[in-house]
Amino acid sequence: MAATGFLLRSHLQDLLDALVAVGYRCVGPQVRDGAVCYDTLREAADLPWGWRDAQNPGTYRLRQTGGAYAFAWANGPQGLKPLLFAPRELLQTSIRAPDGGLRFAAPVASVGAMAVVGVRACDLAALRLLDQHFIGGFVPDPHYAARRADLFLIAVHCSHPAATCFCVSTGDGPRAEQGFDLALGETEAGFVVFAGSAAGAGLAERLPLRPAQAAEEAFVDAALADAVKAQTRSLPSRDLRAGLFGNLRHPRWEAVASRCLSCGNCTAVCPTCFCHGEGEEVAADGASSARYRQWDSCFTQEHSAIHGMVIRADTRQRYRQWLTHKLGSWHGQYGRSGCVGCGRCITWCPVGIDITEEAAAVCAGTP
Ligand code: SF4
Ligand code: SF4
Repeated sequence: MAATGFLLRSHLQDLLDALVAVGYRCVGPQVRDGAVCYDTLREAADLPWGWRDAQNPGTYRLRQTGGAYAFAWANGPQGLKPLLFAPRELLQTSIRAPDGGLRFAAPVASVGAMAVVGVRACDLAALRLLDQHFIGGFVPDPHYAARRADLFLIAVHCSHPAATCFCVSTGDGPRAEQGFDLALGETEAGFVVFAGSAAGAGLAERLPLRPAQAAEEAFVDAALADAVKAQTRSLPSRDLRAGLFGNLRHPRWEAVASRCLSCGNCTAVCPTCFCHGEGEEVAADGASSARYRQWDSCFTQEHSAIHGMVIRADTRQRYRQWLTHKLGSWHGQYGRSGCVGCGRCITWCPVGIDITEEAAAVCAGTP
């Protein structure tokens, strides 16, 4: 993809101002509670300038280096998922009317147009999967669809993968190839800008871009080549159906269950996990009720409760469900694995369980 131009570092605020001028609320990465998280972004100065991360199984640390880069870190705990599929959403209200009847409403929150800055390639791939799930079927989810409709995505080519990243092996990174409006390749002086949509090209025309120099584009390419080489983790294959479903009684399931806390952290941070539960909250006087949906997880007992019976009563069954669905049966549902190699489930697992190690051990067959 040919570069559209080059934006000097000192003009990054112009990008945010241009987005606001055409009606977007900007969201971007910022340091919050010791991690890089998405939050409303008004000033380019609030980006994580100079911060670097160190991620390993069960650990995440940030340190300030004083460096000149805004995006020299790998993904924090959040993908795009919480911005589009809210952790808790009001689905329906019912009110008892004076005539004794019930009045139902299904409000869809008005969220307005949103621009997200700093999206990585793995999260663009995860977004395509969420789109398939939430708006690709017979009945699109109105809440997801409302947020998705006016979304402007500014990707950043990922030049500093964490030790837990493995997007190369899933084919989802580190270069942002599709699904963005603008993409940025960071250099010491600023950003090589690539337009990925008509909306992106339109916004680029509002920016003080100069032509990108060949050396600047080559710098971005070299940084991405280094990012590919830096990844040491991988899945054994992009299609693990045979290996997983052929080894449902492998002793490794028991071994991983003896370490797994069934806490659900892995599913909460996973940018593609979409399981949820629904519940009713009834007012004490019985005059109204509200129905909510809330993120759920393969790792909760309640999630497998069907007709009063918990069908995955132990952690071995629940971990196996997660892995065989994520890396196996997603192929039948969505045409590919549900893993985009972001590594979050490895970093944020409190006991450091590594999906790549578990998948490889099970798929290797009975020891
Ligand atoms: S399974 Fe783990 S590595 Fe794969 S997309 Fe989910 S959080 Fe990322
Ligand atoms: S694999 Fe780790 S993060 Fe996931 S439920 Fe088990 S202990 Fe929690």
